[in-house]
Amino acid sequence: MVVIIGAGLAGCEAAYQIAKSGIKVKLYEMKPKKFSPAHTNSNLAEIVCSNSFKSNLITNACGLLKEELRRLDSLLINIADKTKVPAGQALAVDREKFSKEVTNEIKSMENIELIEEEVGEKIHLKDIIKENITIIATGPLTSDKLSKEIIELTRRKWTSFL
Ligand SMILES: Cc1cc2nc3c(=O)[nH]c(=O)nc-3n(C[C@H](O)[C@H](O)[C@H](O)COP(=O)(O)OP(=O)(O)OC[C@H]3O[C@@H](n4cnc5c(N)ncnc54)[C@H](O)[C@@H]3O)c2cc1C
Repeated sequence: MVVIIGAGLAGCEAAYQIAKSGIKVKLYEMKPKKFSPAHTNSNLAEIVCSNSFKSNLITNACGLLKEELRRLDSLLINIADKTKVPAGQALAVDREKFSKEVTNEIKSMENIELIEEEVGEKIHLKDIIKENITIIATGPLTSDKLSKEIIELTRRKWTSFL
């Protein structure tokens, strides 16, 4: 079993790929009980700012990466293609439809158990990592409680990148 913390863009893609390969996944997401300052709806893989995934042209790095992801059966790119809106040479999506479709897909997968809890509240990182391969995918707005637990475990000082 693999535990993934955070069902944002990275966490959902990781959960999908791991579950699809036949491995059980426990996916923790603090929404809708708790929201970061930027997240506002209860769907998974919420796009908090620009709805553009940048260029779709394979003549540049952004577009080439997307094409590689497409060929690797990326959940997010497949759903982005289905929910795209006109944006010239860029791949931009209807953010509501995009998140809804990702949520439906993740919830429909047999190997994924979605647990709507904040890690750092009742469930703690040190207990999770004792027994499971763990992916932390809580993004730039990781909750304060989990941030503190990561600092304690890694014995690192807090560094702000903003
Ligand atoms: C204000 C803002 C604007 C941005 N604008 C852009 C942009 O225009 N373009 C761009 O490419 N990138 C932008 N970014 C960066 C953007 O966050 C990333 O591109 C993308 O969302 C990162 O995906 P992720 O999966 O790592 O994190 P997220 O999509 O943020 O997902 C993390 C998930 O983890 C959950 N979570 C957090 N803490 C816990 C916890 N303790 N327990 C359980 N769940 C938890 C959150 O609720 C969230 O659902 C922006 C970021 C911010 C904060």
